[in-house]
Amino acid sequence: MAIYKIVSVSANKCLNIYGSNITSLSNNQNVTLWSDSGSTEQKWSISSLGSGVYVRSQVNTNFGLNAYRSGTNWNCDVYPVSGNETDAAVTFEKSGSYYKIRLTNYSGRYLTAGGTGDGANVYWAAATGANNQLWNMVTVSTSASGLRCPLDSYNSISQGYSSSHLGIDYAAAQYTPIKAAQAGKVIYMQNWTGGTSNWASMGHCVYIQHSDGMTIYMHMNEYPSSYVYVGKTVSKGDTIGRVGTSGNSTGYHLHFGYKRGTSFTYNSVNAYNEGTWANPLNYMA
Ligand SMILES: [Zn+2]
Repeated sequence: MAIYKIVSVSANKCLNIYGSNITSLSNNQNVTLWSDSGSTEQKWSISSLGSGVYVRSQVNTNFGLNAYRSGTNWNCDVYPVSGNETDAAVTFEKSGSYYKIRLTNYSGRYLTAGGTGDGANVYWAAATGANNQLWNMVTVSTSASGLRCPLDSYNSISQGYSSSHLGIDYAAAQYTPIKAAQAGKVIYMQNWTGGTSNWASMGHCVYIQHSDGMTIYMHMNEYPSSYVYVGKTVSKGDTIGRVGTSGNSTGYHLHFGYKRGTSFTYNSVNAYNEGTWANPLNYMA
C-alpha cells in the first residue's frame, strides 16, 4: 500500500471528501476538489497504480472511491469497499507523467474534474482527451513505516487527529486486545495509580519506539506489565494491552498517538515531548 494525493491536472487541486475535519464517513459522501490542505480527507491508499484496484480513503480505509450510477455523468462518491464492488474498482492508465483513472467494469468512464475551483464536483464521464481527465498521483507516504490499526475491531473513531487532540480515539469494547502498530521496542510504560492530572491523564499506557517514530497507547484496562515490559522487543501485531478507560477518559477507548523521529529517551515519560506529532492515519495503509 502507498498513500497518495490525487491532484487534478486542469485544476491543480486535490481529490477531497466533502466536509471539513472529517473523522468518520457515511455512504455516498460526495467527493470534490479542494486546494491542498494536507488533510486526511485528501489522502488515499492504493495497493498499486494498476487495474482493478480500490482507492481507499485515509479517513476510513473501509471506504473507497465509488460511482453513483445515475444520469449522464456518474457522480464520484465514497462507499464501503469489501473487495468485490463493481462500482469501486478502478484502472489507472498512464498518460505521459499523469494518469487517467477509469472505472474497471465500465468502458469509457473516466474520473473527471467538473471545474477548477474549491468544491468543484468530480464525476465519471466518457473520454474527452481533455486535461480535466488527467490526474497527478503524488506519493504522500510509501508507508515504509507501515503502521497497522492497533485494534482489530472497534466501534468508531470517536475523535480524530487535530492540533488540540494529538492522536486517534478508537471507541471499542472493554478488553479489546491492543496490538503493536509496528515492530519496535517498549521504551516506557505507566502504571496508573489514579487521578487525571498531568501524566496521570494517560492512564495505563505504553510507548513503543520504532525505526522512524514512536507510538503511544493510552487508557488501557490494566497495568501494561501484564503484557509487556520496558525493553521488550515487540513484533507488529503483538498484543500489548487491552482497551480500558483509565486516566482522563469517559468511556472505553484507545487513544493512539504517533510521533515521527528516531531518538526518544528510554524509560522516560518525557519521551512524550520528543519527536514530531503526526496523524497516524497518514501512515496506515
Ligand atoms: Zn484521545
